Amino acid sequence: MATRTIQYETVVETVERLCIESCYELPDDVLKALKSAADRETDERAKKILGQLIENASLAQQERIPLCQDTGLTVVFVEQGADVTISVPDDDPKLCITDAINEGVAKGYENGLLRKSIVAEPLNERTNTKTNTPAVIHYSIVPGDKLKITVMAKGGGCENKSRFKMFNPTDTKQTVSNWIIDVVRQAGANACPPFIIGVGLGGNFETACLISKKALLRNIDDHNPVQFYAEMETELLEKINDLNVGPQGFGGNTTALAVKIETAPCHIASLPVAVNIECHSHRHKSQIL
Ligand code: SF4
Repeated sequence: MATRTIQYETVVETVERLCIESCYELPDDVLKALKSAADRETDERAKKILGQLIENASLAQQERIPLCQDTGLTVVFVEQGADVTISVPDDDPKLCITDAINEGVAKGYENGLLRKSIVAEPLNERTNTKTNTPAVIHYSIVPGDKLKITVMAKGGGCENKSRFKMFNPTDTKQTVSNWIIDVVRQAGANACPPFIIGVGLGGNFETACLISKKALLRNIDDHNPVQFYAEMETELLEKINDLNVGPQGFGGNTTALAVKIETAPCHIASLPVAVNIECHSHRHKSQIL
């Protein structure tokens, strides 16, 4: 198959737009889940808070303002078709798709009036880069001639409450589930519930964390295609909603909107588990070029 060329500038413009739109517009499935939760909620205060979150989402979309003051660390998932190349500007042939993505993030955060939250290094001076870059970018090479770019604006408060643990391979579903529920309990109000919970089971140290984040990108209504894990998602969601953390931590039966489990093959000696906590401001948007 002939190679398809996508212009560097097209990637920049796409990422800029995705950054702005993801911070202004709550995805339809998340909004629908908030509305269903508000209908089901039996605690009056929790119902009222869910109503405020829905109103906040509607105002952000209409007024073109961010859903939350924390406009997040930009996580970008790229699925690049093996038959796609990115053409770079003639005057700077050393540029590549990573530069285009970071340029798009910087433009999006500047032109969308989004808070820039990234510091250049973590422990010494913590100087703000003032561009919200560098983004965290995950690349996959896939068959075909398309380029799919997904931008996620990941809040700091909920990311701080995410956890990883190595279990023994002999540990049971019950043991793993109890730990996942405890991670959510400890996240509590500080991570801005109701949550979407991404769970990565298997892989190795870094893969479990990565798939727990990728799990968040699934449609809120879907289930893991394997019945064992689909049932585990349902059971976990029920138990998490029995914690009485509730919207914004004020109690109620809506602590999470969904639990998404992703799995990967792992070593016979290992059972890695990661929980990525996502707040109600679940901002992500994709574009296929
Ligand atoms: S955790 Fe989410 S809702 Fe809470 S402040 Fe951060 S981005 Fe905003």
